[in-house]
Amino acid sequence: MSTLGTERNPLRVAIVGSGPSGFYASESLLKSGYSVRVDMLERLPAPYGLVRNGVAPDHPKLKQAILVYEKIAEGPEFNFLGNVSIGRDLTIEELQRTHHAIIFACGAEADRKLGIPGEDLSGSHTATEFVGWYNGHPDYRDRTFNLSNEVAVIIGQGNVAADVCRLLGKTVDELKHTDIAEHALAALAESKIREIHVVGRRGPAQAKFTPAELRELGEMADCDPVVAPGDLDMNPESLSELVEKTNMINAKNIKIFQEFAQRAAPTKRRRCYFHFLKSPIELTGDGHLKRVIFEKNRLKGDPFQQVAEGTTERKELACGLLFRSIGYRGVPIPGAPFDERRGVFLNKGGRLIDKYNSIIPGLYAAGWIKRGPTGIIGTNRADSVATVKALLEDLGVLSGGEKPGAEGLYPYLAKRGIRVVSFSDWRAIDAAEVERGRPKGKPREKFTTVKGMLAVLNKRSETT
Ligand code: NAP
Repeated sequence: MSTLGTERNPLRVAIVGSGPSGFYASESLLKSGYSVRVDMLERLPAPYGLVRNGVAPDHPKLKQAILVYEKIAEGPEFNFLGNVSIGRDLTIEELQRTHHAIIFACGAEADRKLGIPGEDLSGSHTATEFVGWYNGHPDYRDRTFNLSNEVAVIIGQGNVAADVCRLLGKTVDELKHTDIAEHALAALAESKIREIHVVGRRGPAQAKFTPAELRELGEMADCDPVVAPGDLDMNPESLSELVEKTNMINAKNIKIFQEFAQRAAPTKRRRCYFHFLKSPIELTGDGHLKRVIFEKNRLKGDPFQQVAEGTTERKELACGLLFRSIGYRGVPIPGAPFDERRGVFLNKGGRLIDKYNSIIPGLYAAGWIKRGPTGIIGTNRADSVATVKALLEDLGVLSGGEKPGAEGLYPYLAKRGIRVVSFSDWRAIDAAEVERGRPKGKPREKFTTVKGMLAVLNKRSETT
């Protein structure tokens, strides 16, 4: 009988990615009743994925999820290997040699494309770039956004679009005591943006904002929301969607849009205009974005199945800055089967499958790389629990001999010159960030380069 999962032969699981789904998978494994050792691998020296690099700086409450993750990380059966990238520093095969199972919880780091001419003009950016930039993500800290434009356009009406809109619409006073990266705060302080156009391809009843996030767009100190009352006229299918009890979110959104539409004429320095039933069909300019050409849409299909269909009626909007906020996509890792269409790892209920639909023993996925980029932080808990349940059901088919876990990886990493960041190393970086933020009244001032983070550790080893 297999001894896997006993104290003599603990189940060794490598988790790739340190965002919410990785931590919830760890929690679920460590509470399973089996003897388990978790090694979490993260390509940055800092853990927490989108909670650190995605959640907007003016949403500190959402970041409190980190308190739960810290508790998990402090457990003796949990081990963090930061600054280690799978596919670059280690291969999946190497992880398979050292661990009984691998859970990919690496999120969705890339963006969907609009697929229209001019999409790559300078001045046209992905929301990911902007979000990474204001959050101090090392990959995006050197991006520049021409904030000397007066008009900015955001394509998409989800919560990421709402985040981008708030960061463009808020005043420096509203942001300066958050953990926004200092380069972003300095650039936003000089912003000339006056109009922000938030454009949905479908109607107001299909906007993907959650009501709390939409409401906030009407509560900015110096930015008025603008909705043309006629834009809230809806077709019978949309009206029937709104009376459905399971669709409270969109009914609440409509009430908020109606309240915006009834407001007195805008007086604030900035305005946030909501547009519906419009799709960008071309971005034009001479190297730099100058205007967006929109096509007016109508909705087609049954309630909850309605899609946008072009009417050939066109409108232009002059603008020099545009953000595509139309959803994320996962990024492939060599050795893990990837669904190009959906941008996720091919999987059946969290078990990775090959292109012939056969389960690949020992490989799993959780979170956005499993189901696509949907839901809030908490949604990932149930998702990760389901993946762990599948993994534990498979104990009998996993290769059950003893495995070394991370101890087997350190020699490879040392040979490859990788400075592995442990959780206690991260604690030192974390403390240094908090210290840097203190004089500015900020919860932290993030290090925005890997070098800057590692320098904290080098300094520490010099003084100890
Ligand atoms: P999202 O909620 O899926 O919204 C994407 C938006 O882009 C939708 O309006 C969608 O319209 C539109 N879109 C997609 N393809 C398009 C195209 N080709 N042309 C024009 N428009 C297009 O995605 P997200 O805003 O990236 O957010 C991802 C997830 O993170 C969501 O679950 C979100 O709630 C969550 N999140 C939560 C928070 C928070 O809780 N505060 C903050 C940020 C993100 P259709 O509906 O027509 O497809």
